[in-house]
Amino acid sequence: MHPLLEIYFFICYYIYTEITDNGTMSKKSSKNTGKAGKSRKLFIKPADIFGAVLFAALIIFGAVYYYTHPNAALPKSNIGAKTSADFDSLLISFIDVGQGDSTLIIAPGGEAMLIDTGMRDKFSRVVKELRDNGVSELKYLVLTHPHDDHIGGASEILERFEVSEVIMLKTAVDSPAYSNLIRAMSESDAAAVYPLPGDKFALGEAEFTVLAPQSANYEDMNDSSMILRLVYKDTSAVFTGDAGEIPEGEVIDAFGASSLKSDVLKVGHHGSSSSTSVRFLQAVQPDFAVISCEKNNDYGHPHGITLRKLTDIGAETLRTDISGTVTLISDGKEFSYDGAIG
Ligand SMILES: [Zn+2]
Repeated sequence: MHPLLEIYFFICYYIYTEITDNGTMSKKSSKNTGKAGKSRKLFIKPADIFGAVLFAALIIFGAVYYYTHPNAALPKSNIGAKTSADFDSLLISFIDVGQGDSTLIIAPGGEAMLIDTGMRDKFSRVVKELRDNGVSELKYLVLTHPHDDHIGGASEILERFEVSEVIMLKTAVDSPAYSNLIRAMSESDAAAVYPLPGDKFALGEAEFTVLAPQSANYEDMNDSSMILRLVYKDTSAVFTGDAGEIPEGEVIDAFGASSLKSDVLKVGHHGSSSSTSVRFLQAVQPDFAVISCEKNNDYGHPHGITLRKLTDIGAETLRTDISGTVTLISDGKEFSYDGAIG
């Protein structure tokens, strides 16, 4: 049992004993004669009934609260973990959430953001990654588009971490994951932010710009994905959600190919052949290309054509299905990766 719950039950029991025989009422009685003591055993006093009812009510209230607030007893921060102030470089962690996306970014000084959350059944991996890195609050939770493999764990994150802003699309969808997200947002202090292309957000010394969606209407929901470009000193990274070739082209047209050049590319749509056009790759020219997908997934991600394009552009391809969580560190001059190359 959680220590808080034990303390709660102990307080309930203490109140009960104070009101009934073991408390002040019985102390008064014990000063009476033996006759009075005898009668105490024979009759149930109103105080006993009141005490029993109050005790039962407190227990029921505690049980109901505990089960309707399953995370109430969970600590919000990870005591003993590295503190935020320990970070002197920018960290990007592409969390292994199986078939889905979830990327943690921590700026020097400790301000943190999360892009997508993976499916709900993988949220514990995201929680662990945040806590292992000493993150107890997120300045931004970015939800690129409302598909389950991107927002599935969002409600769980909102329940466990302080989130200042949820940066999301206005598009509502009819799914349990989306309903859970909206409920969790209404119960949290997080503000909903619906960005426009070109909007900039500060994360410590880093800054990211929202490049897409450029339009509100796409046939494929994946194409409405938010595309972000993060800059920290001389280093940069592009995050594409599940955006395909149409939005990739729109971003180049709107911002210019030269403004997209980045050290790191989170490869679109888990390495699907519908994303990562040659034109987009030539604009970004990434040193590191990261693909987030599950081993032996049903979609055949990543596609062989995409892998070939990444090799041809000279990118080091890193995959969560091969390497697990992929962490890249920027010292402001360049990104480095110290794990095994998949
Ligand atoms: Zn996806």
